[in-house]
Amino acid sequence: MPPTALPKVIVSSRGATRLKSGHVWVYRSDIASADGVLPGSVVSVTDQRGKPLGTALYSSSSQIAIRMISLEAVNDFPSLLRQRIASAIVYREQIVRDTNADRLIFSEADFLPGLIVDRYNDILSLQILTQAMDAADVRTTVLSALTERLRPAAITERVDPRVRELEALPPRASGLVQGEKTATTFTMNGVHFHFGAAEGQKTGAFLDQRENYAAAAQYAHGDALDVFCYQGGFALHLAPRCSQMTGVDSSRPALEIADQNAALNQQLLKEKEIEWIEANAFDLLKDYAASKRQYDTIVLDPPAFAKSKRDLDAALRGYKELNLRALKMLRPGGTLVTCSCSYHVSQAAFLEMLASAALDAHRTLRLIEVRGQAKDHPILLNIPETAYLKCVISHVSQ
Ligand code: SAH
Repeated sequence: MPPTALPKVIVSSRGATRLKSGHVWVYRSDIASADGVLPGSVVSVTDQRGKPLGTALYSSSSQIAIRMISLEAVNDFPSLLRQRIASAIVYREQIVRDTNADRLIFSEADFLPGLIVDRYNDILSLQILTQAMDAADVRTTVLSALTERLRPAAITERVDPRVRELEALPPRASGLVQGEKTATTFTMNGVHFHFGAAEGQKTGAFLDQRENYAAAAQYAHGDALDVFCYQGGFALHLAPRCSQMTGVDSSRPALEIADQNAALNQQLLKEKEIEWIEANAFDLLKDYAASKRQYDTIVLDPPAFAKSKRDLDAALRGYKELNLRALKMLRPGGTLVTCSCSYHVSQAAFLEMLASAALDAHRTLRLIEVRGQAKDHPILLNIPETAYLKCVISHVSQ
């Protein structure tokens, strides 16, 4: 191999210490020099004494200036990409069960920072989050590696305009990048769902909850309420075990798909009708509590309340309000399934919030299961940011 001629980034001693602790990010404030390095480059990283620390992807605008891809010198990035994509897919083949929809590539957790690929049966959904992964040659390599291994009917891209802005990338539209198929159905735990990549339709499901759906279904019974139901993930899994199921969400388009999903599962649901209510969950829970409605099973799966560390206190108050209201409405013997997808709310803080809500609601809770994200969303032990989802299933004793 010829010696690598990659552009060089020098990190401060704080940056070097972070990398030695197993993390893969160095913030801009810990970069000592990145002279002349072009946006999105593959770079070699050294400490201030010139000691090599490995190879990284560089962003000229993100607060996260470098994301490591190897502790070694990387001479051929496209071939590394192909290898990593292949091993991410093999890993899913080993650990994912009972579905044809999963997250095939999850960014840092698959050693491919800035690249996310979800599989919905025969359609792949791609997300690109960094300058380096957005480079034309990198995109070409990613698409060809995915196509060779999986032969999808189509590949669609989901663009987050805010991320492109943060990465100083030109705007780009969501939509098909390969093939023509824009809709399909997929199955999780025997439950069927629509996937639509067409414009205006919000794409994708919350695949990270897939194993939690199956777990929660085991303990669901009686009158049930799925709050923040989106396209019906929990409601559809739990309904066969319940006498009555209501799903609540503020998004009409999400509820329309939830209703279509219910129609796909007629066999499973038998004659049962799920009621979908468009409402603000906070207002609805308040009204229902005031009118003394009672349930045997309640699911709470709100959007991330804490988008940054600063929001933590407000987020915990939000979670507590929701959980308190739900607990007051649960009958003795009831099941509470409560989730948080905010990375900044740790599992310990979430359990503490729940304990405090239980005290205030005069309920005693038994923890049945304390769960996290599905296994195709890997957690790297040395990168705490890769663990973000909490799903706590508990039994209301009195
Ligand atoms: N439980 C779902 C995922 C929920 S995502 C699943 O497993 O698929 C969060 C959902 O909360 C989104 O569908 C969003 O439309 C909804 N939402 C956000 N704010 C809301 C509010 N104040 N009231 C009701 N729904 C809300």
